[in-house]
Amino acid sequence: MKRAIFLDRDGTINEDVGYFCTRDKWEYIPGSIEALKILQKDYVLFIVTNQSGVARGFFTEEELIKFNGEVEQMLRKEGIIIQKTYYCPHMGDEEHCNCHKPSRFFLDQAKKEFNIDLENSFVIGDHPHDVEFGQQVGATSIYVLTGHGEKHKDELTDIDPPDFIAKNLYEATMWINNQRS
Ligand SMILES: [Mg+2]
Ligand SMILES: [Zn+2]
Repeated sequence: MKRAIFLDRDGTINEDVGYFCTRDKWEYIPGSIEALKILQKDYVLFIVTNQSGVARGFFTEEELIKFNGEVEQMLRKEGIIIQKTYYCPHMGDEEHCNCHKPSRFFLDQAKKEFNIDLENSFVIGDHPHDVEFGQQVGATSIYVLTGHGEKHKDELTDIDPPDFIAKNLYEATMWINNQRS
């Protein structure tokens, strides 16, 4: 079985600039590329992203699928391979679906599709629901303070604490590396 890193997208890899689906709004958070390059040496990388901009009418699912491909391609140019991008196009609470984080749906799917050892995998994100997402399957959860992380930090007291709170994805990566040594 393979171990994986399940990455939130907006606010974790790139700046969260609200609902968007075009390359001109894509901006890496400093250190993200370096972090992903380090992580992929030992882990399979996935992006798992709630994109309710579809349900809200900001962009279509077709546009989202196309943009997901563009993001993967931008990362590939940096030498980073994303195994798959899983997205929930739904609204979440108001519109019940199986796949909106913190639902474990996409983690179970990745396990099935790619033979992933979830308990020895990591989830990284800037929202408390990202932390809960990892906790559902016994993965290690890391909360980052980039994106909405600083803003939602106080809500962490409502859930089981994350395994680590990192300044950003790069610091999360350093912590993951230290767990193994
Ligand atoms: Mg986010
Ligand atoms: Zn969904």
